[in-house]
Amino acid sequence: MPVTLPSCGVYERPEDAHRLFEGYDPRRALFLDRDGVINADHGYVHRPEDTEWIPGVFNLCRVAIDVGALIIVVTNQAGIARGYYSEQQFLDYTGWVHGQFASHEIVLQATCYCPHHPDAPDPALRLCSCRKPLPGMILEAARRYRIDLGASALLGDKPWDVQAGQAAGVGLNLRFDPNAMAEPGVVRTMQEAGQVLHRFFE
Ligand SMILES: [Mg+2]
Ligand SMILES: [Zn+2]
Repeated sequence: MPVTLPSCGVYERPEDAHRLFEGYDPRRALFLDRDGVINADHGYVHRPEDTEWIPGVFNLCRVAIDVGALIIVVTNQAGIARGYYSEQQFLDYTGWVHGQFASHEIVLQATCYCPHHPDAPDPALRLCSCRKPLPGMILEAARRYRIDLGASALLGDKPWDVQAGQAAGVGLNLRFDPNAMAEPGVVRTMQEAGQVLHRFFE
């Protein structure tokens, strides 16, 4: 009997959902990890007062907006599996994050999230097809929004972000690490990320 593993959740603001049906096809996307890329990774961030934006992340998003690419957040949320916060608390916080970006005139099209973890007390939350480095969240977004993954880019801060992008067939997979040595595939500032993205999307 085939086993179907649970897949990711998708949050979208109601006012942005119409874009699912707009005509341009196929689309490009910029996939962003959340903790360590959008907000500083203080560990299981889920409240506005704990949110510290990564400097330059709004300008980075404009590079994608300017070429008509969708911005999609793909985030492992083991805090839900572990019971540190509820899925509803996560969704409320995600709505706030989308609103903050909207106030900078940046549409986050969706946040795809994995609420699973192998150590979850609830057996139903242990196995899945979406926890990075698995590519499930990216593949779900591609199906939902008809995204050309080879023409799309990803920015994460951990090796498993890059591995998920590669497994999904994303064309450009970058790792953001302010402390890294210069090497291919690594960017050390959001400005540098924006330059690499601009060349890729051109
Ligand atoms: Mg991260
Ligand atoms: Zn998952």
